Amino acid sequence: MPIAESSMLEVLQKHWGYSTFRPLQREAMEAVLEHRDSVVVLPTGGGKSLCYQVPAILMDGLAVIVSPLISLMKDQVDGLRESGIAAAAVHSALDPAERQRIANEIRGGNLKLLYVAPERLCTERMLSFLQERKVSFIAIDEAHCISAWGHDFRPEYRMLGELRERFPGIGVHGYTATATEHVRGDIAKQLALRDTEYLVGNFDRPNLIYRVLRREKSGAQIHDVLERHKGEAGIIYCISRKEVDSLTQSLQAAGFRAAAYHAGLSDEDRHRNQDAFLNEQVDVVVATVAFGMGIDKSNVRFVMHTGAPKSLEHYQQETGRAGRDGLDSECVLLHGGNDFMIWRKLNDQVTGDARVQLERNLRGMEGFCTSVVCRHRALVEHFGQTYEGENCGACDVCLDQQEVLPDAMIVAQKILSCVVRVNENFGGDYVAQVLVGSKEQRILENNHDQLSTYGLLKEHRKTTVREWIEQLCGQDFIAREGEYRVLKVTATGREVLRGQRTPRLLATDKKVEATKDTPKKKDFSEGMDAGLFEALRILRRQIAEEQKVPPYVVFTDVTLQDLSRRRPTSDAHFRLAHGVGEHRAKHYGERFLAEIARYASEHGLSTDVTVFAKSREQQAVEALRESSKNSGTKTAAAPLFREGKSLAEVAEQLGRATSTVNDYLTEFLADEGYMSPEPWIDGETFAAICAAANEVGAERLKPIFDKLNGRVSYDQIRPALACWRNQQAQAE
Ligand code: ADP
Ligand code: ZN
Repeated sequence: MPIAESSMLEVLQKHWGYSTFRPLQREAMEAVLEHRDSVVVLPTGGGKSLCYQVPAILMDGLAVIVSPLISLMKDQVDGLRESGIAAAAVHSALDPAERQRIANEIRGGNLKLLYVAPERLCTERMLSFLQERKVSFIAIDEAHCISAWGHDFRPEYRMLGELRERFPGIGVHGYTATATEHVRGDIAKQLALRDTEYLVGNFDRPNLIYRVLRREKSGAQIHDVLERHKGEAGIIYCISRKEVDSLTQSLQAAGFRAAAYHAGLSDEDRHRNQDAFLNEQVDVVVATVAFGMGIDKSNVRFVMHTGAPKSLEHYQQETGRAGRDGLDSECVLLHGGNDFMIWRKLNDQVTGDARVQLERNLRGMEGFCTSVVCRHRALVEHFGQTYEGENCGACDVCLDQQEVLPDAMIVAQKILSCVVRVNENFGGDYVAQVLVGSKEQRILENNHDQLSTYGLLKEHRKTTVREWIEQLCGQDFIAREGEYRVLKVTATGREVLRGQRTPRLLATDKKVEATKDTPKKKDFSEGMDAGLFEALRILRRQIAEEQKVPPYVVFTDVTLQDLSRRRPTSDAHFRLAHGVGEHRAKHYGERFLAEIARYASEHGLSTDVTVFAKSREQQAVEALRESSKNSGTKTAAAPLFREGKSLAEVAEQLGRATSTVNDYLTEFLADEGYMSPEPWIDGETFAAICAAANEVGAERLKPIFDKLNGRVSYDQIRPALACWRNQQAQAE
C-alpha cells in the first residue's frame, strides 16, 4: 500500500506549516517513497530539499543526504531541528565526542536524516557502518558536482558511483538546479542509476524582476539599487577582486553596511564576512563569483552585477540566489562592451575545445545583454524550454522601460547596407562613424565619405548608433568575425534588407527613468504593517542569536509578512500563518504573540485579521495549472487515452511521471464528458468511489479516502470523481 498523498501533506503542514506542494514536489516525493531512482532538476528556490526531507520522515530508517559543503549541511540541519525533526551532520569540524553521540543516535534508530560529505561517506568504515543499519534512501544534493560537464565538478563526488551497488534495493536520488540535458544524463550515468525517473521543472523564476542596463555612471546606478533596497539583503557581483575591494570601501564610506568576499581574502575574513551577511549584521556582500555556493539565505532581495558574467549559466546561478522565499526580488545587470574583452583576457591561456565553449558562452551572454526580447523568455528558451505568455510584467523589456524605436526597420536597413558598403571589412565602431558622417582621418583616407550610406544617421549620436549595431548583433542580423571582429550581414540580416523581417531597436536617445517601485506586489505583503514587520525582524534576529542559527532559519520573510498582516493574538491564529509548523509555534509562538500584541496596541491596529487573498504560492500553483492546460504534452496525451492506452504506456510514450499522466487523465475524462473511468479504473472500484462520494460528498478527497478505509488510492479517486461529476451534471 503506497504512502498516500494526504500523509505527505500532513507532514508538510505539521513540520513546515505549508499547505500545498510546489510544482513537481509531489512526484519527486513519490519517487523516493516508491524506491525509484530519480534525478530531480528544479530551479533554485524550487523546494528541492523538501522532496527528500518529507519522505525521510515518512519512511522507516535513516535517510543519508550527501552535501558538498559544511555550511550547507549546517543550515539544513538547523532548519530541520527548528522544525522538530531529528537530523545531524558529520563533517571535519566535529569533535570525537559529538561524532560518537551521532553514531549512538543512529544505532538507537532515532535519527531520520544524516548529512555527510561525499569523501566521508565513501570511506570503508562509514559504508559498512551504514550497511548494517536500516537506510531508507540516499539523496545527493548539488548532484551536478559529479559531472565533469557541469560548472562545478568535484572529484570527490565520483566516489558516489559505487553507492548504487553497495546499497541494492535502496533508492538513490540526485538533486540539482543545473539545467542542461547533457549534465542530467551524466548524473544518472555516473551514479549508475536504474530506470531513472527524470523530473525537470520549469526554469522560469516569476518572482525575479530582471533589469539589464548599459553601464553609464555605474556609481549612481549602484546607488539607485541600494536606495530601493534600504536595509534589505543583497549581493553585488563584480568581475575582479580589485573592483570588489574598491566598491566595498566606497559603499562603507557612504554608510552602507557592506562586506567583501573573494578568493584573495584569508579563510578567516571570508568566513567572518559570510556569517555577517547570513546573520544580518551586514546587508550587502560585494563579491566575485567565488561567493554563493552554499548560500541558502532565503531573503536575498536583490542581486546586482556590475559587469556581465561570462555565461548565461553563471547568470542564472547567481541571480538564482535572489528571492528563494518566493517574494519579489530584483536582478540588475550592468554591462558594457569591455566586459567581454576582460573575460577574454582573463581566460587568455584557455585553448582548444574549452576556448570554443568559452567563446560560445560569451556570445550567448553578449546576445542576452544587447537583445530586446523579454528577459524571462530569453533565459527560459536558452535552457531549452518554451515560455508561455506574452508580457512577463517583470523585466525591463516588458515593463517598457525600454522604449522601442518606431522606425526600426528603416534604421536597421541603413545600418546593414552600410556594413555591406564597407565590404564587410570593418568593425562596429568604424561603421557607426561612417553612418554619423564622421570626418575622421581613416574614413577620409578610405574614401568612405563618398559612400551613399555616409552620414545617413547623422541626426543621432555615435554611441546610439553603436548601441543599435549591438542590438542587431544580439538578434543575429549581424555577425562578428575574425580577430578584428569585423561585421558581416547574416542570412536573416539580408531578409531585413529585403524588408521581409522587422528587427526591434530601442530608442536609446531618450533616457527612460527606471521606475522606483517594484512593479507587482500581489503577495503576503498585501495589507501588512511595515512597522510591525520590522519589529518582528528584530525579534527574529534576537532569537536567532540565542539559538545560534541564521535568522531565516527561525522564520522566513514570508512568514513575518503574513504575521504582520494577520496580527494573531492566539496560538490558533498564529498557526494559520504561512510557514508556521507545530514545533516553531510551540517554541516561538509566545514571544511573537507578545510582540504583536504590544505593537498592535501601541499603534491602534486591528488584530486577528482574516486573510482572504490568495497566497503567492496558490497563485503560482494555479498559474502553472493554467499554463499546463495549454502545454503540448497534455494535448498529446488525449489521443492516447482515446486509444485506451494504459497510464504506464502513456507515461512511457510522453516521458512523464505516471502521477502527472494521471492528472492529464483526470482532466481528459472531465473535459470529454466520460461517465465511466474504465479501462483505467475497474467497474467495482468505481462503484465503490461513487457510493462513497454520494454519502460524504466530493468537496474533499480525504473523507472519501477514509470512507473506503484507504483501500483506494488518491490517484484512483481523482479520475473516478471526474466521471462521477459528469454523471451528476447529466442527471441535473
Ligand atoms: P532549493 O533547494 O530548490 O533551492 P529550498 O528547498 O531551499 O529550495 O526551498 C526554498 C524555500 O521554499 C524554502 O524557504 C522552503 O522552505 C520553501 N518551500 C519549499 N517547499 C515549499 C512549499 N511546498 N510551500 C511553501 N514553501 C516551500
Ligand atoms: Zn519580460
